[in-house]
Amino acid sequence: PKISPFLEPGKTTKVGSLAILQLSRDNLQPVYLKAPSEKHDGYAEGAVVNTRYGSFPHSTMIGVPWGSQIRASKVDTGSRGRNNKRKRNKSDDDGKEASATVAEEKTEQESTPAEVNDDSAAVAKKIVADVSGFIHILPPTPEVWTSSLPHRTQVVYTPDYSYVLHRIRARPGSVLIEAGAGSGSFSHASVRAVYNGYPSEGERKGKVYSFEFHEQRFHKMNQELKEHNLNSLVHLTHRDVYNGGFLIDGKSPEAEAIFLDLPAPWEALHHLSRRNPKKPEDKEWVSPLNPKKSAHICTFSPCIEQVTKTVSAMRRLGWVDIDMVEIANRKYHTSRERVGLNLSMDRGVNNSARDVDEALSRLTEIEARFREHAARSKESDDEMDGDEDDGLIKRREKKEQKGGRKRGGEKKVKIDHKPDSPESFEALPSGVPMWMEGRLITRGEPEIKTHTSYLVFATLPIEWTEEDEAAAAAARHPVI
Ligand code: SAM
Repeated sequence: PKISPFLEPGKTTKVGSLAILQLSRDNLQPVYLKAPSEKHDGYAEGAVVNTRYGSFPHSTMIGVPWGSQIRASKVDTGSRGRNNKRKRNKSDDDGKEASATVAEEKTEQESTPAEVNDDSAAVAKKIVADVSGFIHILPPTPEVWTSSLPHRTQVVYTPDYSYVLHRIRARPGSVLIEAGAGSGSFSHASVRAVYNGYPSEGERKGKVYSFEFHEQRFHKMNQELKEHNLNSLVHLTHRDVYNGGFLIDGKSPEAEAIFLDLPAPWEALHHLSRRNPKKPEDKEWVSPLNPKKSAHICTFSPCIEQVTKTVSAMRRLGWVDIDMVEIANRKYHTSRERVGLNLSMDRGVNNSARDVDEALSRLTEIEARFREHAARSKESDDEMDGDEDDGLIKRREKKEQKGGRKRGGEKKVKIDHKPDSPESFEALPSGVPMWMEGRLITRGEPEIKTHTSYLVFATLPIEWTEEDEAAAAAARHPVI
């Protein structure tokens, strides 16, 4: 069977690969790579992705290692003129968007007359000299899929699902129940967590049993699972789980991990018992849980009232270790800022070369200061070498041993200093002066902006029968 690109993407892109194009930090676009022979909108290059960073024929993205940077094609497919009437958006990352937009506008004005391709004359292809945009081509992962998937519902995001999967002990070989499937964000993350390749004889195959009662969402998700080659690992059922429960053709999926992202999880809980909650002696009743393992559940609800109802239903049904967690996720953005260019971070805009003249004159000034500083250091080193003052030399050596500047060796890296201060001229371990490489800047979001949901966790232990107790006792005190 074909292995999902989400589980084993291989080293390089191929025709037919699902690739995620990263246009800017938070702008991701999924695309299936087509062979050049598959004509698309009449472009001679075959299928083309047109973005504000330029045009990217699929042919330039096939056979490259995942993660590669792809430069915009010099061939204008003609569509950019139609598409780029869009308003210039506020830049959303490290200035790439702003500069690419400038290149794009220039392109439109300065492109040379059309180099017309015979079989698609109507498209009017033009050679474009200076489109300098680029994108990155990423393999599909649950994380990038979550950021790029077509939203049909609210979805569970990476900070929540990574914690949930850890707490419900989803691991290779686990069987997991999920409801509702919604847009499939959690399904993709959970199938990767339980995937165990080709299990050996007697070993269970990790699997996700997913339920969704909304018909269109069910069909869309089924189609996506097929496209992603995940349909053998995610079994999707169209069902209202409050009424219908979690059995598959009357049989137990034998799950030990459960995730409920439903408006009323307490209404589904009675199906997730080990015995019929209304009639415990009912021998016909089939539990969807693995009888040999404790079950670990998480329910995901935005309101505290939902949490209260869920927790009391859990208590009544024998769940233990019940607790609630809210993930308060804060993003940190780390980058290097050119020391001394003084372009912007503190002015609240991106550090793009907005004012090139200013940047150049500041660089020239800094370079001159760097040379002056280097000359001065050399002078004082020469002086020091001829110095008869043993005390001074000893004091200096002592300082060096403590981890201060070492003469002739690697210099201490100082991160926290004012631009243009003498420390700016110190070398980083790479040997590049700090002012060239830039100093390390970390910006955190000032406050946590979003409340996603409350996560309720609980455990349902395995049933301990009289027979189990007798067997345990026999094992402890074997009859000789
Ligand atoms: N966890 C999903 C994700 O990460 O993409 C999003 C789930 S969405 C918030 C909730 C889904 O539950 C909706 O698609 C809804 O149709 C489905 N749903 C609601 N009640 C249901 C029920 N009784 N049985 C099955 N699905 C249900």
